[in-house]
Amino acid sequence: MAATRTFSIIKPDATRRNLTGAVTKMLEEAGLRVVASKRIRMSREQAEGFYGVHRERPFFKDLVAFMTSGPVVVQVLEGEDAVARNRQVMGATNPENADEGTIRKVHAESIEANTVHGSDSDENAQIEIDYFFKPEEIVG
Ligand code: GDP
Repeated sequence: MAATRTFSIIKPDATRRNLTGAVTKMLEEAGLRVVASKRIRMSREQAEGFYGVHRERPFFKDLVAFMTSGPVVVQVLEGEDAVARNRQVMGATNPENADEGTIRKVHAESIEANTVHGSDSDENAQIEIDYFFKPEEIVG
C-alpha cells in the first residue's frame, strides 16, 4: 500500500510534562515519519473551529479550554495506512480502555488530557492538515 498522511497533535498535557520527544519516538517506532511539525499555542477560535463537530457535546467548553491551556505540537505524519496506524499506536480515547504499549496507555492523564490527537479518516486528515499547514511547510 502506498504511503498516506495523517494529522497529529501532541496535546498540552504532554508538552507540559516535556514528552514531545517521547511521544514522537513512539510515533516513529510505529512506522510513521514526521514530515511537518510546529509548536504553537492554539487560539480559542482555532480550537473551537478544529473541534467544531463536538460543539454540542457536554465536554466541548472544557476541551477547548484544555487545548488552549498550553503549547501543542501539530504534526503531519506519513506512512503506510497512516490514519489507521496512528490510531492504533494512540490507543483508545479513554486511557483506561487503551491497549498496553499505546501512547495513551503509557502517557495519558485522563479521557480529556489524553496526550495525542489523530485524524479518524483520510478525508478528515486532509481537512485537518490544511487547517494548520501551508503546502510548503510539509516536506516529505
Ligand atoms: P479521539 O478521536 O480518540 O481523540 O476522540 P473524540 O474525537 O471522540 O474526542 C475528541 C477529544 O475530546 C478527545 O481526544 C478528548 O480529549 C476529548 N473527550 C472525548 N470524550 C470526552 C469526555 O467524555 N469528556 C471529556 N472531558 N473530554 C472528552
